[in-house]
Amino acid sequence: MPDAPIPRQVLWQKRRRGEIREAAEAGGLVLLPTGAIEQHGPHLPLDTDSFTAFTVCARAAGQVSEFPVLVLPPIWWGLSPYWMVFPGTLTLRAETLIELIVDVAGSVAHHGFRRLVVVNGHGGNDGLIQAAAVKASTDRFQVGAVSYWTLIAEELRALSTRDGGSIGHAGELETSIQLHLQPDCVDLGAVAPEQCLDLGARAAVQSRGVYLPPNPREESPHGVYGMAHAGTADKGRQVVEAAARELAAFLRTFHP
Ligand SMILES: [Zn+2]
Repeated sequence: MPDAPIPRQVLWQKRRRGEIREAAEAGGLVLLPTGAIEQHGPHLPLDTDSFTAFTVCARAAGQVSEFPVLVLPPIWWGLSPYWMVFPGTLTLRAETLIELIVDVAGSVAHHGFRRLVVVNGHGGNDGLIQAAAVKASTDRFQVGAVSYWTLIAEELRALSTRDGGSIGHAGELETSIQLHLQPDCVDLGAVAPEQCLDLGARAAVQSRGVYLPPNPREESPHGVYGMAHAGTADKGRQVVEAAARELAAFLRTFHP
């Protein structure tokens, strides 16, 4: 079933300038989605991470009625040097992404807002959004940074039948999310099960909190980390709903 269109009220770029001033005066909170335009296996679209982060933000914003929540236009590109071996990947330099976030956040602060949350959908950005949050925060303006899957670790473990709850890359959970959000962009027939890396040992390392940049040449020459064919639209819907719900719950506690 198609989702309802995103209401104008939550989209920063669709508001008029007086409405932005009113939202700031009402103690509004601002979300900045970040992600990547990068290869997601032979079967998923390049905007998988950015579109997921944006959708989670928009749905969370729509659930909060106590104060205004505005979603900025996403920063589409992320730090993806390790995927440049595949067509379509666009990567920023780490410094560029940090400075982009800092400049956008500084503009938001300039207009009187006191809280911003960077909501990320791409693993390679994780450390950078935290660095940017530290750099952009002041004593009057606090910036939070979170990757959506860290909000719902328990739910992911429960939903994932093959990938151990890891968000992976183009595996069970990301395939599920895209089957839910933009099924027309998915072609599961383009990837064979034997082309998917079983996360096994890698998931065990990451469950200890160790971040490992992918090395597709050694690990997964098809660039698929996790079992794509275990993905379903229904799991994807549950992931996105849980992430939006938990983000909305966090926003209520983070409100100034
Ligand atoms: Zn991804």
